[in-house]
Amino acid sequence: VTFDIEQLRAVVGAQAVSTRAEDRFSYSHDAWPLAAVWRRRGLHPHTPEAVVRINGTLQAARLLRWASEQGVPVTPWGLGSSVTGAPLPLRGGVVADCSPMSGIVRLDDEDLTVTAKAGTLGGELEEALRARGLTLGHSPQSLHLSTVGGWVATRASGQFSSRYGSIEDLVIAFTVVLADGEAMTFPLSPRAAVGPDLRHLFIGAEGTLGLVTEVTLRVWPLASHQRLGAVRFVALDDGIEVLRLITRAGLRPHLVRLYDEDEARHLLRDDGFSGCVLLLGSEGAADIVAAEHAACLRICDAHGGAPLGAGPVEAWLDRRFDFSTVEERLHAPGGFAETIEVAHFWSGIGSLYRELKAALAPLADEVLCHFSHVYPQGTSLYVILLGQASDDAAAERALHALWDRAMAVCLEQGGTISHHHGIGMVRLPYLTDALGDTHELLRRVKCALDPAGVLNPGKLGLDGAGVAPVAARGEAEP
Ligand SMILES: Cc1cc2nc3c(=O)[nH]c(=O)nc-3n(C[C@H](O)[C@H](O)[C@H](O)COP(=O)(O)OP(=O)(O)OC[C@H]3O[C@@H](n4cnc5c(N)ncnc54)[C@H](O)[C@@H]3O)c2cc1C
Repeated sequence: VTFDIEQLRAVVGAQAVSTRAEDRFSYSHDAWPLAAVWRRRGLHPHTPEAVVRINGTLQAARLLRWASEQGVPVTPWGLGSSVTGAPLPLRGGVVADCSPMSGIVRLDDEDLTVTAKAGTLGGELEEALRARGLTLGHSPQSLHLSTVGGWVATRASGQFSSRYGSIEDLVIAFTVVLADGEAMTFPLSPRAAVGPDLRHLFIGAEGTLGLVTEVTLRVWPLASHQRLGAVRFVALDDGIEVLRLITRAGLRPHLVRLYDEDEARHLLRDDGFSGCVLLLGSEGAADIVAAEHAACLRICDAHGGAPLGAGPVEAWLDRRFDFSTVEERLHAPGGFAETIEVAHFWSGIGSLYRELKAALAPLADEVLCHFSHVYPQGTSLYVILLGQASDDAAAERALHALWDRAMAVCLEQGGTISHHHGIGMVRLPYLTDALGDTHELLRRVKCALDPAGVLNPGKLGLDGAGVAPVAARGEAEP
C-alpha cells in the first residue's frame, strides 16, 4: 500500500473503506471483454489498494481533498458496466464506489425534471418514473446494469435516442466534486446563454475531471400511442438511404435500427433469411404517431422495402436487454466477443461498413452489424464480433488484433472511433489520432482542474500537471 490506510479511514469513516482482497478484485474487472478474459485467467492487473463506498457529496469531497494532498489516485465507479475498462484503476489507489448514493431527490412533473443521486440504478429510476406516468427516454441496453452518474461520465446513448436524444441532451444540471474537494452545482434552467456550457467538461470525461454526485435530467410523459413495424430490404444500401431520408424529412421515430443480413438472421432467428431488416417505431399523440409511421413506411416503399409487420419489433422489444449471445462467448474458455460502435456522416457510412466488415471477417467467426442512433447528418454503426480461440491467451491476442484493425479502418475512413461506449483503456492508443490538436486542450483542462492528477489517472491519455501522458492499454499489463 502506497498510502496510509488509517488516514483514509479517518477521512471518510472506517465503515466506508474496504481493503479485503475479494472487494479489491471485484473492482478490477468491468464488463470489458478483455477484463472478462483476465477474470477467467485469474488475472487482476488493475486492482485498487482500497475501495471507498461513497455515501454523498460531503464524503466525496473529503476523499478527494485528502487524495489531492497525498497524491493518491481515485477512480470513480458506478456499476462497472463499462465495456472499455474505463473504471479500472490504472494507477491503483482508491476506487470510489458511487453506487451507495442512490434514490430520487426531487421529481417535478410540471417542469418535467428529475434529480437523482449519481449512483441510482437506471432501471430503478425508470420504474419509479413510469409509476408516475413519466419516462427518462434514455434506455441503454445496460439500463438495469448502469448508474445515472455512469451515463453522464461515459456520454451514454440509449436505444430511443433518435426521438429523445442522448445523455448530453437529457442532462440539465449536476453536482460535481472537483479533485481538490470543492463541490459545485450547475444552475437549473431549460436553456441558458451565460457563458460557455461547462457541463460538457464532465459529460464524457470518464471520471477524469470530477466525481458526479447528483444529476438532474429531463423526463417525458409516457407516450399514449405507439406504432411498430419491420421492413425488409434486399440491398443494405437501400436501407441506409431510407434511414437518411427519414431523418432528412424531420421525422422522429423513437426506434430506428437497420440490421445487415448476418445480424438480421440472429434477430429473426432464421438462418436462411436474406436481405436486411429495418425496425421502426413511433410514439406520442395518436394522430402524429399514425402520420409519422405512415410517412416512414412510404419512404421504405419507395426504396423497395417489403413490410414484415410488427412481430419482429415486438420480439426485439422483449429481448432488448438480453446480452446472452456475447456473454456466452465470454464465459467459454478461449471464447471472445466484442462490440465496437463507431459513427460517420451519411456520405461515409456505407464505405465504413464495407471496409470494416471486410477487414474484420478474417479475425472472427461472425461479424454482425446494425445501424442505430440516426441523425440528419449521419448514424452510428454497431459491430458485434464473436469468435473462438484455442485458449484464453489466444483470445486476448484476438481481441487486440480486432481493435487494432477496426480502429485503423475507422480512422482511415474518417469515422468517429466511438459513438457511445467511450475510450476507457481499449481505445486509448487511438485517442490522440481521433482528437488531433484538441487532445492538448483536454490536457490543459486536466492540468487546471486536477494538477495532482488524482482523478482516474491515465484515462483519456491524461495524468497530472508535469506528468507525460501515457498511452496505456490492456495488452502489456498482466
Ligand atoms: C450489456 C451492456 C449493454 C450496454 N449498452 C449500452 C448502451 O446501449 N448505451 C451506452 O451508452 N452504453 C452501453 N453500455 C456501456 C455502459 O453500460 C455505459 O458506459 C454506462 O454508462 C456505464 O455506467 P456505470 O454506472 O456502470 O459506470 P462504470 O462502468 O462504473 O464507469 C464508467 C466510467 O464512468 C466513470 N464514473 C462512474 N460513475 C461516476 C460518477 N458518479 N462520477 C464521475 N465519474 C463516474 C468511471 O470512472 C468510468 O470512467 C452497455 C454495457 C453493457 C455491459
